[in-house]
Amino acid sequence: MTTSFAALGLSPALLQGIEDLGFEEPSPIQTLAVPALLAGRDAVGQAQTGTGKTAAFGLPLLERMGPERRTQGIVLCPTRELAIQVAEELGRLAVHRKDLRVLPVYGGQSIERQFRALAQGPQVIVGTPGRIIDHLHRGTLHLEETAVAVLDEADEMLDMGFREDIEEILEKTPENCQRVLFSATMPPAIRALADRFLRDPEVLAVPHRTQTAPAIEQVYYEVRQHQKGEALCRLLDAQNFRKALVFCSTKRGVDDVTLQLQRRGYQADGLHGNLSQGQRDRVMGRFREEGLDVLVATDVAARGIDVDDVDAVINYDIPHDVESYVHRIGRTGRAGREGRAFTFVTAREHFRLRDIMRCTKASISRHQLPTLHDLHHLRTAKVMDEVLETLAAGPQERWIALVEEFLGTHFPEGRIASRDVAAALLKLLVRRDFGGQDIDPGHDPLAEAPRRAPRAEERRESGSDTARRPPRRHSDTPMTRIRISVGRAHSVKPGMLVGAIAGECGIPGGLVGAIDIAPRFSVVEVASSVAEEVLAILNAGVFVCGTKITAEPWLAAPPPRKPHAPGARRRPSSASPQRPGRSGGRRASGAQGL
Ligand code: AMP
Repeated sequence: MTTSFAALGLSPALLQGIEDLGFEEPSPIQTLAVPALLAGRDAVGQAQTGTGKTAAFGLPLLERMGPERRTQGIVLCPTRELAIQVAEELGRLAVHRKDLRVLPVYGGQSIERQFRALAQGPQVIVGTPGRIIDHLHRGTLHLEETAVAVLDEADEMLDMGFREDIEEILEKTPENCQRVLFSATMPPAIRALADRFLRDPEVLAVPHRTQTAPAIEQVYYEVRQHQKGEALCRLLDAQNFRKALVFCSTKRGVDDVTLQLQRRGYQADGLHGNLSQGQRDRVMGRFREEGLDVLVATDVAARGIDVDDVDAVINYDIPHDVESYVHRIGRTGRAGREGRAFTFVTAREHFRLRDIMRCTKASISRHQLPTLHDLHHLRTAKVMDEVLETLAAGPQERWIALVEEFLGTHFPEGRIASRDVAAALLKLLVRRDFGGQDIDPGHDPLAEAPRRAPRAEERRESGSDTARRPPRRHSDTPMTRIRISVGRAHSVKPGMLVGAIAGECGIPGGLVGAIDIAPRFSVVEVASSVAEEVLAILNAGVFVCGTKITAEPWLAAPPPRKPHAPGARRRPSSASPQRPGRSGGRRASGAQGL
């Protein structure tokens, strides 16, 4: 299924945007979707975050936009975060289409500013359904000439109660508008939406074939995007690989990581499709002949590599599809040698990891990156071992004579202890061995915020004075309660918590159950299968209502629930605390979380 972006039928301006971003080849969903959508077909795409789905619908959408300053394309997203992210990605892809404007429109942003921005006539609007409806009702947005409408993460939007908003928006688009629906899952409600609004849609789904991963040790680390560079150095320092192959998803990523490693003193070089054959041969020659410890590469460049003795593969970026993962890690553990594979995973990419585990049936275990303390210990232990080896090798007369001469010159009265001299030498050696870097274990940029147990008075607080979102899970899904450190005093709303958990952790909103909001904290139910992951991610620096939150298991008894009518499970009454959805209260207050 490998193809090139040029073969997909895209214009030179967009191809240049793709080149600038450093994408080397289309991901599987892009290979499927771009030609189908360029042909003007309606389509239902099944793809999760991380598969390259934004460019999959975004590139054909941008191709259809003309220079006229009016809304021609609309993308609906479940959360503000996703709307911003999608708008940014479309803007980057269209950077050489100087005539195009992409505007994110979401709740929480000043509506006056949006009026002004909309008045400029951006061709593409990326927004959350609630705010788009606001603008439609106020007459500040018109969809009569929309050529393409995309629902991104449609299952999430339905889960969050946006069904009626979405229907109203689609009804306002013209009959001949191309309609595209992307969703990670295809429950009946999504099918019903597709049946109602899409004409003979093409189904775009990358087949999930079971893959056999090599039987090597596979490990993953949870990192935030900006920590990856530090995490890579930490891993390389701690493991001391002889030959490591590091995979990045873009050519730009390869250049950035290579430069970063070289600056920090590693014998590293990069390989990607923009290098000439001569340059590639030189890099490969050095990697084969031990001149390089670390080779950083894209998938495409690595396909041509023929090296047998790579002892570690590091997925700096998790691959877009399972096949690439299997290919990548197959580069280590060859010819009967030991090999290991390490993968960095950010919060949004957890689904990819789970896909990989499911399709390969491999167990990829979560490990903690070594702390600076660990590293310091490893470094000194290594030098100490070498000292012991040197001592064991026999008397060191020539060196003893030099030490005696040094001591006689500088400390003639013998006022220095031998252990002070040894300590100074140890410090020097450790530093010199590790590129002159000194470690300050007290300032670890990868350190996580410490977790703490719930305090007794906070447990008591969850009495009757709670706002709540009704449970939406089937009773047979095991749920775990999590205490999150923001509550009514922070103006938190249930939708914001769902948005934060779904957005940051990359899990469907459907795995979030009942939410109780107390004055100073909230208790949220999440499916037990993802609870550990949610806790880890929420504690890694997530902000809700401008406050950095902490999360911990909620061990107290559940607070008493107000009974609610069966129908209220999906659509709470306007008197109950609101999920984002069509509610007069939410919009009238102007306090949209999403
Ligand atoms: P998405 O699934 O749209 O959220 O995309 C996940 C990430 O992959 C984003 O950071 C994209 O910029 C990136 N990406 C999308 N397509 C490609 C590609 N063909 N090659 C490399 N990276 C890509």
